Amino acid sequence: MTNKKLPLIFLLAVILSFAISPSAAFAVSDEELFNELLDKLIDVSLALSLLQQQINDLINSSQPLHQLALGAYLKDLFESNEIILDKDDFLEQTENPYLSFAKILNLIPSSYKVDKRITQREVDQISEQFLLLKDRLLLDGLYGKVDMHEHYRSGGDIEKFLKAAGSLGISKIVFVPTGLGPDNKGYIFHQSFLIRYIKKLYPEKIIAFCTIDEADPKAAEVFEDCLKNGGQGLKLLGGHPSFYDEPFNSENMYKVYQKAAEYQVPILLHGSIINVPETKNQLHQVYSDFPEVTFIHAHYCSAIFRGINLDQCAEFLDKYPNVYVDLSMGGGIKRYHRYFREDLAKVKDFILTYQDRILFGSDIILDRATYKDFDFIYDRIQCDLDLHQKKEYTCPYGEKDVLHQGFDLDRDILKKLYFENPKKAFNF
Ligand SMILES: [Zn+2]
Repeated sequence: MTNKKLPLIFLLAVILSFAISPSAAFAVSDEELFNELLDKLIDVSLALSLLQQQINDLINSSQPLHQLALGAYLKDLFESNEIILDKDDFLEQTENPYLSFAKILNLIPSSYKVDKRITQREVDQISEQFLLLKDRLLLDGLYGKVDMHEHYRSGGDIEKFLKAAGSLGISKIVFVPTGLGPDNKGYIFHQSFLIRYIKKLYPEKIIAFCTIDEADPKAAEVFEDCLKNGGQGLKLLGGHPSFYDEPFNSENMYKVYQKAAEYQVPILLHGSIINVPETKNQLHQVYSDFPEVTFIHAHYCSAIFRGINLDQCAEFLDKYPNVYVDLSMGGGIKRYHRYFREDLAKVKDFILTYQDRILFGSDIILDRATYKDFDFIYDRIQCDLDLHQKKEYTCPYGEKDVLHQGFDLDRDILKKLYFENPKKAFNF
């Protein structure tokens, strides 16, 4: 589906939603009616998008066949553009590197097989898309990276994100739905949109998390509903200075952790232990009371704040084997750069010590903002990859016009960061 068609689909969805349920306005409150309409809008959008795919398949199937099967065609396309791929360059096991790379780049649907006979029309579409990306491909031999921390709000251009991330070798992305502070306002709609629409369009590429209003007494039920609809984890904003004062160890939150244990899904949480110091003891209690739940403490436990306080993050990792940390910097990238310049060795030492417990992510909020285009997503994620992979790099975000020092991690550690640790955290 192209983006040009998206507004039309939404318009149709709204009209259809009204047509389907004209009497609802007399039975329920405005808010309930609004939520009901949004639900229908999502269902209709998904149905129309899937229909669009089927129409495309139908048009394709009536076209003349290309002389080569898909696998041979892709090998030819990549190699004639001097891109030679090897099985060992892939973090996930692959039988056919060219087919896998085309899927990572979102050039072909993930269901396509190597011996599929493609049509001339598909060949034209694949090569056109490939030529647009060709000069931006990061050929680092680390294909199949798993990105563990990005945000999604309805209307964000998911195809742009997948193309930009794919060009950097990222094959799977955890998206967490996100509302607005202070109580995650609007999260239900963003969550439904992500779980019931976006995830179903790209089931192999997107790992869709749930989120909650942490002070809502029904939070555990809302979370369970989301899991039943296909949610694969939970994002908590607790301990974020702009969100919530519901403690992590409240009775209400314990019901939520019990659901995570029951459904065996991980919890990614904010938890600024330095900026909101009371979260530290709360989390010690939660991590120890739920050893069966995998917790991912974001942003180095937010411990690179008012100094490099990674010893406090290490305390969690030493005590609780069920805790991982993600290295995402998000909007705080400038602060991280400042501290990295102060003592990069200290941070690198932390990463090496806890190399089996670290996860990669950028923490971009993908929403309708027009500046979040291909280049923004690509450049912003590349800042993180360069930090992990290079000795020296520049980054247009955070501290600009500075030659930064990177961690320059060995390939076996990068493999853990990008693939093996996510695999363990998710049990896939
Ligand atoms: Zn985040």
